[in-house]
Parts: sequence; structure tokens; C-alpha cells
Amino acid sequence: MNVKELDQTYVANTYHRFPLQIVRGKGSVVEDENGKQYIDLGTGIGVNNFGIGDEAWKQAVIDQMNKFQHTSNLYYTEPCVTLARMLCERTGMKKVFFSNSGAEANECAIKAARKYAADHKGPEYHTIVTLTSSFHGRTITTLAATGQDELHQQFQPLTPGFVYAKTNDLKDLEQKVAENKVAGILFECVQGEGGVNALDAEFIAGIADLCAKEDLLMMVDEVQLGNGRSGQLYGYMNFGLKPDIVSTAKGLCGGLPLGATLLGEKLQDTLTAGTHGSTFGGNPICCAGAISTISRIDEKLLAEVREKSAYIKETLTGKKGILGVSGMGLMLGVATEKSAAEVIAACMEKGVLVLNAHGKVRLLPALTIPMEQLKQAIDILVEVCGA
Ligand SMILES: *Cc1c(COP(=O)(O)O)cnc(C)c1O
Repeated sequence: MNVKELDQTYVANTYHRFPLQIVRGKGSVVEDENGKQYIDLGTGIGVNNFGIGDEAWKQAVIDQMNKFQHTSNLYYTEPCVTLARMLCERTGMKKVFFSNSGAEANECAIKAARKYAADHKGPEYHTIVTLTSSFHGRTITTLAATGQDELHQQFQPLTPGFVYAKTNDLKDLEQKVAENKVAGILFECVQGEGGVNALDAEFIAGIADLCAKEDLLMMVDEVQLGNGRSGQLYGYMNFGLKPDIVSTAKGLCGGLPLGATLLGEKLQDTLTAGTHGSTFGGNPICCAGAISTISRIDEKLLAEVREKSAYIKETLTGKKGILGVSGMGLMLGVATEKSAAEVIAACMEKGVLVLNAHGKVRLLPALTIPMEQLKQAIDILVEVCGA
């Protein structure tokens, strides 16, 4: 059996895989089993922020590998504290809990919010308001937080205590807050899986006002938009927000699994010994990799992200077969006349990898993609959409 047949026989069939086997890569170019090369505008869904095989990242990971790969959270380790300090200093948040994925980062956010609300307002204030077309993960609780009915259907009962307000509808949000005893509001500044929908700036400002007025925790899911992708270190920084909880993962470690939940001033003493934990969370190899990526997301790189973003938007807007471009930074959604599936397949044929997001073509290139490769890939996308 070949790899495709073995996969279909032995791997749980939870993914619509494309007919493509990746065997190696470098930077923003990946190669399939036949030696065909592709410019990668997907980065493993916003994970390989510095591309594949980034030398400084690899060295940081190997150096730690040569010391030790894992211990338990019963002992102190240097990479974990260095990364936590770096994240706190760059955000003004006070404490970090490390896990292994975006869903787990949100699980921690939800546990922390519920405990804070129980400690300060009473245990009945356990409801978390999230938004329609949001995405917060695949565990039973983060699925409950995800405001997409079609994903809920076959997994009832989900964790109770979530209500969904209409995205970009402040009146509806205010109503949901008034009708429930609410701990906090959880949202993505740009909804990724839900279709690369940027929240309106006024709506985001409205969330901030409501949180302040009603004493609600502002919980920002930065799993996809965070770690430089928005053109700022975290997406919320584009809107001048001061969140109470920030969850992140995907691009944090540039390719190894690491989740982080950042807790602000109010919540710095909420999670106490024994209230939460993770065997792998804060793994030294992952933390060493993340120190390498986060320390290099500086103003110069962020400016580059914003320039590349502007280039993509300008190039695509108004072209034949392209209906519009949404999103921010290097997290962009392209609405096309052809179906997204058709565009994705045609791009792959021509050597460019792009993603889907609720019917849009989603672009999540490496922050460091060379301009020449980006231009080449965008030209192919334009050609495909207009053909
Ligand atoms: C991908 C994603 C998640 C889930 O992350 P996993 O690492 O797959 O668990 C949560 N929130 C957002 C916004 C995401 O994009």
C-alpha cells in the first residue's frame, strides 16, 4: 500500500486530505513525493511562522534537545521561565500557563475565567459569551465555546454555560450579557476558521466598553492571529485593548506544539496549586523554540508583515473573479467567483498551496516569506481566479 492507502486504512478519517504528500521543505517552499515544489501560503495552518527549517529555530531546538527533552512540572526549568517572562514583558500580562494546543489554551482561559468569577461575583456567574461563526477548538468545552451550530450536532451534550452573540451586532451582545450571569466575553479579533471575518473596530470597542461597565473578563483568542501574524505581536494590540486573558498557540513555537494562556492583573492569583496542570505543558524543547521565534518578532519584522499584507490586498482587489479580501496582516481571506475548492485545487496544480476557510480562500504565509516567492504565488492565484 502507498502512503495514501495506508492513511485511509489506519488513520482516523477526520480530515479531508488533499492528494498531496509532503516529504520535505525549506523556508516557504515544500516538496512532494515526486519532487514537485510548491510555494506554501498555508504554513501548516499558521504554524510555521518562520517557514520550514528556519536555522536559528532549529539550532535553539537542537541545543535544548542536547540538554534534556522533558521533565515534569514538579521541577523548575529555564526555557519555561524565560519564555513566560518574555511574553509578560511584551504584553503587560502578569502570568502564563503553558499547554500544548489552542484548544487547551482556551480550556485554561475558560477555567480561569470561571474561577475568577466564582471567587469575585459568585459561582452562578459562570456563563461565557462567545460569537457566532467563531472557532475555539475541538474539545467538548471549546466546541461548546465555538459559535457554529453545525459543528455541535453530533456531540451533545456539550459543556453548558456558553451563549452566542451575533458577530458585529453590539445590541445582541448587550442583550446576551443582560440576560445571563456572565463571567466574560471570548472572541477572536479576526475569526479564522469561521471565514477570516475581521470584527468591526466599533464592535471591538463596544466589547471593551461592555467589559468595563459590566465587570466582565475580556478574553481574546489569539491562537491563529497572534504571534506576529496581524502585523502586531498580538492581534488585540491593533485595537488598543487591555485584555484580561489571552490564549495563543499555532505560530507560538514555529512548528512544535505549544499553547499559552496569558493572565492579566486581575487573574494573576486565580489559578493556584492543584487547580490546573499539564504533563507536557511548557515542554523545554517547545519553549526553547518559542523563545527563538518570539524574540525575533520585532518592529522590523512586523513592518514587513504589514507591507506584505498591503501588497497582497492591493494586488488581489478588483481582479477578475475576485470578490473581495478580508482579514488583517498575513491572515487573509479571498472571496472568489469560483468555489474555494476549485481555486485551491487549481493553485495546487500550478505549485501554490492555499487553504479554505468557510468558503473563502485563506492565505496564511510565513511572516518571513521572501517577497519574490510571495509575488509569484499571488500572480498564480490571480491567474487561477480570473481563468
Ligand atoms: C486553531 C484554533 C484553535 C484550536 O487550536 P488547536 O491547536 O487545533 O487545538 C482555537 N482557536 C482558534 C482561533 C484557532 O484558530
